[in-house]
Amino acid sequence: MKTFTSPEELHAWSMEQKRQGRTVGLVPTMGCLHEGHLSLIREAKKHCDAVVVSIFVNPTQFAPNEDYAAYPRKEETDCALCDTEGASAVFLPKPETHFRGVCTIVAKLFNIVAPDVAVFGQKDFQQEAVIRRMVRDLNFPIRVIRAPIVRDPDGLAKSSRNAYLSPEMRTSALSLSRALFAAKQAVEAGERSSAVLEDAVRKEVTASGWVPDYATVVDAQTLEPLAEVRPGSSAFLLACRKAGLRLIDNVLL
Ligand code: AMP
Repeated sequence: MKTFTSPEELHAWSMEQKRQGRTVGLVPTMGCLHEGHLSLIREAKKHCDAVVVSIFVNPTQFAPNEDYAAYPRKEETDCALCDTEGASAVFLPKPETHFRGVCTIVAKLFNIVAPDVAVFGQKDFQQEAVIRRMVRDLNFPIRVIRAPIVRDPDGLAKSSRNAYLSPEMRTSALSLSRALFAAKQAVEAGERSSAVLEDAVRKEVTASGWVPDYATVVDAQTLEPLAEVRPGSSAFLLACRKAGLRLIDNVLL
């Protein structure tokens, strides 16, 4: 496995792959890799010959009071994990590289790597939708693939931030996935009112001490809030805060 810090060198390598007739996949991450990220590498490998994993903690993805400085960084372990999963290259851009916003970093990565496919997790639902839209609007010749959320056996969506959860916080955090699964079941049983579903989810997480930032039924493509669920093309998006921590989760309805 190759390790690159220089965009120019990575670009040259990627172009060489293509000259040799190999397709290239990209998996953008902020590192501190867990099973969720590894599932994206495996998914990418199904669709291309060489997978590039980028590891970059993007400062502008953090709100001013969020945990940018404290965000876990584990470059050595991450590189070893990528190697084990069969990635062809890891890209560790220097922090001084000037990136602004998720679309800017991903657009830059798309230009540097020129991938045939790029894999994003459903975990960050809005991010994937925005990037899919950017790919369409800017005519990037790239197939965007959405990989399902990887969860712990008890339902908690895997996240680099789960490391911050005390045992009590972790137990209470299960209310997020519990509430979302209940919403999905309610829809399967015939419920269509977003207000009813949103109330139920808010109640469930609030009872465990979590304060919803949003708990909203949206159109899975446009992200427009929906008054009525359209089964098969809707999603329930949830973000909650407790004790300085913010967790996100979602389900397709
Ligand atoms: P991050 O390192 O948190 O920026 O995430 C990098 C990529 O991994 C994004 O496409 C995320 O959606 C994806 N990802 C993070 N957690 C999970 C998970 N539990 N299951 C699936 N994909 C995930």
